[in-house]
Amino acid sequence: MSIYGDYIKSVIRTVPDWPQPGVNFRDITPLLQNSAAFRKLIDSFVHRYQEMRLDTIAAIDARGFIIGAPLAYELNCSFVPVRKKGKLPFKTLSETYKLEYGESAVELHADAFERGARILVVDDLVATGGTMLAAAKLIRRSGGEVVETATIIDLPELGGSQKIRDDGYDLFAVCS
Ligand code: AMP
Repeated sequence: MSIYGDYIKSVIRTVPDWPQPGVNFRDITPLLQNSAAFRKLIDSFVHRYQEMRLDTIAAIDARGFIIGAPLAYELNCSFVPVRKKGKLPFKTLSETYKLEYGESAVELHADAFERGARILVVDDLVATGGTMLAAAKLIRRSGGEVVETATIIDLPELGGSQKIRDDGYDLFAVCS
């Protein structure tokens, strides 16, 4: 957890039973609306990664983009969108993963980074870990080195962060 973890957590809103009964949706819009909180959030990631010699920030569609872009700018890294299926126009590589019902896929442009690039994968939240793990696997399969995965919120009770670590990836969470 980051030094600002408790504060960041305090400005995230939980919306019960959205988008369906039983889901506690973690809404980051109050955090984004608060300029001091948004700055502290980005600073948390910058502080952790400024000495790690990253080449690329790979951010997951769509809320991952909100943190990935300022982070790439601050760290002088390239920015790569990891998108949901069917959104990227050029030659793509794809990784399918299981959902509670059915399956989904994340995609990457085939020329998104150089082989051996040192990459950080970011998203807003880790629940079951399926999305983050699929993105990390896709990047590794595409020749990138996944230096770490990072998220604003980890929901450890859903087992995702453990699954990500069991698969050999480090995970940094600002709060849980
Ligand atoms: P998962 O693949 O189960 O780890 O789900 C993570 C992805 O789904 C992230 O891209 C999140 O934006 C979204 N997500 C899953 N659960 C929640 C939740 N409770 N609140 C907000 N976003 C969620």
